[in-house]
Amino acid sequence: MEIALVEGDITTQRVDAIVNAANSSLLGGGGVDGAIHRRGGPAILAECRALRASRYGRGLPTGQAVATTAGELPARWVIHTVGPVWSASEDRSALLRDCYANSLRVADEVGASTVAFPLVSAGIYGWPVDDAVGQALAVLRSATSTTVTEARLVLFGSDTHAIAREVFEGRP
Ligand code: ADP
Repeated sequence: MEIALVEGDITTQRVDAIVNAANSSLLGGGGVDGAIHRRGGPAILAECRALRASRYGRGLPTGQAVATTAGELPARWVIHTVGPVWSASEDRSALLRDCYANSLRVADEVGASTVAFPLVSAGIYGWPVDDAVGQALAVLRSATSTTVTEARLVLFGSDTHAIAREVFEGRP
């Protein structure tokens, strides 16, 4: 699997699936979640509501992932995953890695070969950017049993992109 780092807006990525840093309610929020629902139109939210009414009555648990179609976005699928809120006193990084691992598994299930990820938890949920990149890369670099051929980490803004590049290249 090729891993690419790009600066940009995930809603414009031409890939089979984009990952959404959703909240557990699946009913929309700010950040990348808000952008996806704004740009993707109401069809995505309608599917999310149906998921809440059927499989996820109590919300999508942290670390898990589920796919909907992508409405008006160039991608075919949106894979919704719920990152953990950053905590300085508790190590929640296994849950953050679960987001990437479970999103890849869902990508395999829907047959998506190219997948774009945002930096899950690194916005409203407060995760330090460098560590969020490290957790993402730990999962993506060790993913051997997936049929995904390209994982694209989409960094929002030049500062975030610069930090991600340093982590990617192993610079201190
Ligand atoms: P969380 O609640 O998991 O922290 P956020 O959406 O607040 O999720 O932030 C996750 C990351 O996504 C942050 O780095 C934020 O800057 C970034 N982000 C926000 N909007 C977009 C977008 N349109 N495309 C890509 N990344 C985005």
